[in-house]
Amino acid sequence: MNVKYINNTLGFSVEIPAEILDKIRQLGLEFHPREFGGIFLGKTSPNCSKITITELVIPTEYESKPNGFTRHPHNLNDRIKDEYNRSEGEINYVGEWHTHPNGKSQFSKKDLKAMAAISALTEVKTATPLLLIAGLTKNLYDPALYIYYQSTLQAYTNDR
Ligand SMILES: [Zn+2]
Repeated sequence: MNVKYINNTLGFSVEIPAEILDKIRQLGLEFHPREFGGIFLGKTSPNCSKITITELVIPTEYESKPNGFTRHPHNLNDRIKDEYNRSEGEINYVGEWHTHPNGKSQFSKKDLKAMAAISALTEVKTATPLLLIAGLTKNLYDPALYIYYQSTLQAYTNDR
């Protein structure tokens, strides 16, 4: 089953398989109280209005701290390329995810800066990367989704 997120102002939607959201919660609790994260692969419509996330990719090299998560490229680019080739160009990098172990799903100034830098990278095939922030404590799980669009992070709402 897919969970649907929408932004009515932009007319954008994103679908995320429920098992991917469950996996993020599981990983977040394993690393709690440190942050953890990775990237998403998926399919994007030509005008980026519809994105379907198909895969969660966990980096093999990273720094995980209570107030920060940094992934190191290592073999991540090869894994993106492999999936791109295997799917004949249908599946590609669509964005980032990380946990906030304090429970708050609001993006930080550092998060916004990081997404601006990612959107400008030529090797990343999207100028509008997604960011999922999973606010998480032992009892609470509040994944929030954003898209870097028109130089800022625009929020989606969960379409339940
Ligand atoms: Zn953050």
